[in-house]
Amino acid sequence: MSGKLIVISGPSGVGKSTVLKKVMDLTPNLYFSVSATTRPQRPGETDGVNYFFVSRERFQQMIAEEALLEYAEYVGNFYGTPEAPLNAALEAGKDILLDIEVQGALNVKRRRPDAILIFMLAPSFQDIENRLIGRGDTAPELVQSRLNRARWEYTQAPHYDYLVVNDDVEKAAQEIRSILTAEKCRTSERIHYLTLKEDL
Ligand code: ADP
Ligand code: 5GP
Repeated sequence: MSGKLIVISGPSGVGKSTVLKKVMDLTPNLYFSVSATTRPQRPGETDGVNYFFVSRERFQQMIAEEALLEYAEYVGNFYGTPEAPLNAALEAGKDILLDIEVQGALNVKRRRPDAILIFMLAPSFQDIENRLIGRGDTAPELVQSRLNRARWEYTQAPHYDYLVVNDDVEKAAQEIRSILTAEKCRTSERIHYLTLKEDL
């Protein structure tokens, strides 16, 4: 059976990376889709692990080669999901987690209606600002652009299948794991058990 495609979005600073790391640590057979981006590498990030850091030329080439499932421009940089590794993992029955912004997530849902879309919120908008500033790696003018973008992102949240409020990292991670578990218990996922007629 093919794996599940789980897409998480939410404003920059809401805590996606922190919570998803916890989810990954706790969940076997769950893999992170490494995106390509033109944004500069931050301290502590590793090329090929957090992102594939590429030039704008290379990114344009990937678009031309149709190597990306989706891509979007976000606050002056391009971000995109390489499609081939994602398909290979899903076909091998692995579950895949995508941490992508709203336009990309809605494009994934259009192309793959079976994708599970989760939007991450913070208890308040002030929390997002505090966390973004507290992380200490984003210039003040970029903090403001990201917060402006966050206001628009919240307007798109009703299109998502699930909302997770990150008031506590542990709790948010458990909620995401519960969503994945519930999705795997769907009748459509388990119907093959009912075809074992010899047991009836
Ligand atoms: P994102 O990936 O959404 O941009 P990060 O995971 O980098 O966000 O988190 C932004 C900052 O907020 C980090 O400094 C992180 O430690 C902090 N943070 C994450 N979750 C919480 C939480 N539930 N409560 C308080 N701070 C948090
Ligand atoms: P950051 O620069 O903080 O790592 O990410 C900025 C935004 O880009 C986040 O909202 C993140 O979810 C999003 N993002 C990361 N990778 C991709 C991708 O492959 N496609 C899209 N559409 N957005 C992405």
